[in-house]
Amino acid sequence: MQYYLTNASTNKKTGPIPVSTISKLTCPSACPLKGANGCYAENYPLKGHWDKVTTGERGTDFEGFIQKVRRLPNGIWRHAQAGDLPGADNEIDDRQLQTLAAANQNRPVIAYTHKPMTPENLKSLQTAQKAGFHVNLSANKLSEIDQLAETGLSVVTVLPSVYGRMTKGKAYTETLADYKERLRDLESVTPSGIRIAVCPATYLDDVTCQSCGACAKIRPANTAIGFPAHGIRYKRIDEGVNLGATKRRHNDKETLP
Ligand code: SF4
Repeated sequence: MQYYLTNASTNKKTGPIPVSTISKLTCPSACPLKGANGCYAENYPLKGHWDKVTTGERGTDFEGFIQKVRRLPNGIWRHAQAGDLPGADNEIDDRQLQTLAAANQNRPVIAYTHKPMTPENLKSLQTAQKAGFHVNLSANKLSEIDQLAETGLSVVTVLPSVYGRMTKGKAYTETLADYKERLRDLESVTPSGIRIAVCPATYLDDVTCQSCGACAKIRPANTAIGFPAHGIRYKRIDEGVNLGATKRRHNDKETLP
């Protein structure tokens, strides 16, 4: 299983922070976005890099990766811009995850998992969080947010493309004011009262993960961060996201806590 660490990402939304790319073998079959079903990492240029890491053409083994994590600078970084937590398919390799958490030494890390929340996986994540390695659980439908939030861990979700700011190519075709006005008419609170906040890097040019960092920490009232479907596979995501689960909307002016 290969791992690759880039010292400074060239991804505009991430900002120039360290990012890791992990073998596709870590991706769970439980993830409904896997393959051509909407996974953003299957788009070029990331796909080309990810394929090379998966075949072993690039990267190191787990031990080599851990050495690099230990030497990371003390700022925020992104784990698994493609790929998932250590462990093949649906399983989390507990020994490797706790090794990664210890090597991280409490650095703020942006990490997500699509692995299913079996009792074993949940226990691994709870242990890692206590050791300072915060992982967001990825919901695949709005209706899954409440269910995942019951674990007490942080949750993010994909959102239908209608939650995104309108663009043509890379340029916005909707003013920020119009977008925020339109957003106020969309559901943004789950039935159990969890607020959904749209990732600001998806609609503001001057926000990056480096400047935001909301995914790297436990959020007030466990606010779930949402990522509107975009890119060439947005229709596949739109088909799978269940809007019916949200009943109310918030009136907050702010978009993130
Ligand atoms: S909410 Fe913030 S940290 Fe999370 S993905 Fe968006 S910009 Fe990055």
